[in-house]
Amino acid sequence: MKEPSQNINYNILLIDCYPNQTTFPLNISTIKSYINNKTIFFAKCFDFGIKIKKHLNFTKEQELKLSTIEEIVNKLRNKNLEYTNLEKKHIHIINSILKKIDLEKYNNIGFSIMSTKTLGYSILISRIIKNKYPTKNIIFGGSMFNYNNKILTNSEIDFLVQGEGFTTVENILNHINKISLKHNSKNNKIYYKQNNKITELKQKINENISESIPIPDFDDYDKNDYSELTIPMRFIEGCGFNCSFCSDHNKKIKTQKLETVIEQIKYLKKKYNPKAFIFYNNNNVIVKNKKYFLKFALLLLKNNLRINYYMQDNPSGYDELTFKILKKTGCKLIFFGFENINDEILHAMKKPHKAQEALNIINKCHQYNIKTLMFYMTGFINETDEMFQKTKNFITTNNWNKNNQIEIFLFGIRPGSDAFDNYEKYGITKIKVEKTFFNIPITYNYNTKNKDWNEIKKTNENNYNELLKLYHNKKFKYMN
Ligand code: SF4
Repeated sequence: MKEPSQNINYNILLIDCYPNQTTFPLNISTIKSYINNKTIFFAKCFDFGIKIKKHLNFTKEQELKLSTIEEIVNKLRNKNLEYTNLEKKHIHIINSILKKIDLEKYNNIGFSIMSTKTLGYSILISRIIKNKYPTKNIIFGGSMFNYNNKILTNSEIDFLVQGEGFTTVENILNHINKISLKHNSKNNKIYYKQNNKITELKQKINENISESIPIPDFDDYDKNDYSELTIPMRFIEGCGFNCSFCSDHNKKIKTQKLETVIEQIKYLKKKYNPKAFIFYNNNNVIVKNKKYFLKFALLLLKNNLRINYYMQDNPSGYDELTFKILKKTGCKLIFFGFENINDEILHAMKKPHKAQEALNIINKCHQYNIKTLMFYMTGFINETDEMFQKTKNFITTNNWNKNNQIEIFLFGIRPGSDAFDNYEKYGITKIKVEKTFFNIPITYNYNTKNKDWNEIKKTNENNYNELLKLYHNKKFKYMN
């Protein structure tokens, strides 16, 4: 096993702060594996999220409110403001967790950030670290920043990664250590501050770069921290779709060698005996990669690998054989990007399925004893009252039970999505981007030909709350 270098500039600590994990963090574990196996540097991972979750026993209302975190970050900057008891508790817990990490060994601390809650904690922790160790380099990365680098205006952050973190993190370490940079793809960018200005670090571009996805290294986590461990894996990367609301589209599809995936599953099963594996394979398993999946299933059977697994997918392209194979190989749950019951909306969203096809697939899953979790989006551009009524009927009359559940989201336009980049195509006349306290555009206002934003916002929020009420108390704990 690779050991930390004597030169602390060569070492990086990778942190994930999502405070609710039942699974090992996937992204930082994959970057660690790349850094330790393919570079001269050394990386270690720390799941800050699971430690926070263990220590914070707040009531539901108090639980890790983003506003609380924002307040603390604000007060850390403005020493004249007083902390509340809740804020003091947060700081005390974070400090006590930090004391258990040997920060002296690392001059570079990387944070993987996928949600606003993680963002709040990452800023707070990096602020505390920077106060104590001003020379340490703080690196932020994650899908939240793919279309916005303004987060660098926060003084505690030194580098920002856009795109994939493998060669990109390596290049940051090369830059810090004055080693010439490696070639990278043009989508993988690095920003830093020069004379207080956000500046792009020029990397050598090679579009033909095609690194295979590294196998994640979970060795830094303690299995006992996780109550019912599920192990995340991703062996198909890239999507091949371009759903209009999504900013994570159109990436070239890359797959891992299946023999390697099978060896990895064997190793992880033996080492951790997890409750299940979760395959995060970019929603394109069956519809875009059926042959690859069938080969994977055959290898599972050939190797007599009895596992339970959950996976995410689009509800499209399933046939009888697919269901039989899913059942036979241990599939217990599929997360479907169902999105909407109205075909007009599905069409405008550029989803690959129609509502009835998706419902047929979901019903068939239940016949095969495979649970389903449907992601549903309300408030899409130009959703009419009639369409909302159809949604309401669908939510009210469907037989939601332990096999079939729904997660409801409210639509918002994200930079990088087709609806944002080509907004006129969607009947939008004007977009206004709002920034949060943390300088990340979270809320996007838009006017359409017939309505202005305030009207749209009010209707959408009311509708969303109405759906949540209708669905209240019917949620199941899908991991069970
Ligand atoms: S929503 Fe899923 S399927 Fe659609 S573009 Fe995004 S990642 Fe691809």
